[in-house]
Parts: sequence; structure tokens; C-alpha cells
Amino acid sequence: MIQPTQKSTAPDGNSRENEMAAPTMPNAKDGAGKDRFAELLRQNNIPLTLQRLAIAQVLFARPVHLTAEQVLQRAQHIVPEISRATGYNTLKLFKEKGLVRELVIDPARIVYDSNTSHHYHIYDADTGEMTDIPAGDLKVVGSANLPSDVELEEVDIIIRVHSKDH
Ligand SMILES: [Zn+2]
Repeated sequence: MIQPTQKSTAPDGNSRENEMAAPTMPNAKDGAGKDRFAELLRQNNIPLTLQRLAIAQVLFARPVHLTAEQVLQRAQHIVPEISRATGYNTLKLFKEKGLVRELVIDPARIVYDSNTSHHYHIYDADTGEMTDIPAGDLKVVGSANLPSDVELEEVDIIIRVHSKDH
């Protein structure tokens, strides 16, 4: 898994990146945070680019549940020229590396969860909001009869709620 391509840990994009940081980001420890995201990408053998760093910042500054569009829009506040293709490819890459989890709420709505620890969800159909439920709060009893040629990857639970007003 170790790739011999870690020689340029400080790509020349670094100084540019600071200039391009969105002035509205209220995070005072922005600099330290960016190092953290760069380190995360490096640890996962993901070559650093400004675009990937911006998307990492959107996803990993704090746990979030965001659609690909929301990730793209927020990342574009940091690096305006991120294309839709780059955004989607980066999300796919992060997913392959296990950095985010893809949650399919329905075929038209997929959100990316940057909390990859085992947990479940409450989905509010009125607001579209996802809330985490600690895995210990729910118990799955029994086991499914799986075909012999597969193994269990994970059990997803999404509890769907809506306001009592309707
Ligand atoms: Zn979650």
C-alpha cells in the first residue's frame, strides 16, 4: 500500500491556496485545519490538489451529511473553479478510500456522510435533514439468510420521520 511518490509533500499550489482561501470562512484555525486535511489525503495515498483539499475541508472540518451538489457548492466557495466532474470524481475517490460513506435515501437523493464510524440515521422528510443515531441506541435482532457466496458488508438503518402537522 505504501507508494514511493511522497517526495513532494508541499506542491507549489500551497501559497496559491492561501491566497484563494475564501475570506468569509470564519474558521480562525484555517491554516492548521488545512494541514490536517492534507495529511488525511496523504495517509490515504491521494495526491494533493487544491480541489481535493477544498472538498476535504468541506467534508472533514466537522461531521456532515451532504449531497454531491452541496459538497460541490461549498467547495466552490473555497476554490471557485472546481468543476462538477472534479467534484463528483473526488467524492467517488473519497468513497473508494473509505473516507466517506454513501447513504442512499432514495434514488434521487444520495448523501455523503463524513462520519464513517458505525451508526444509523434519522431522516426528516420535511427538512431533508439527517441526524446520527449512535449504533448502541438501536439493536438489530436476528440475521438475514445471506447467499453462501457473499458476506455482510454493513447494515444501514434510516428511520424516516415527518412533522406531525400533516
Ligand atoms: Zn451519519
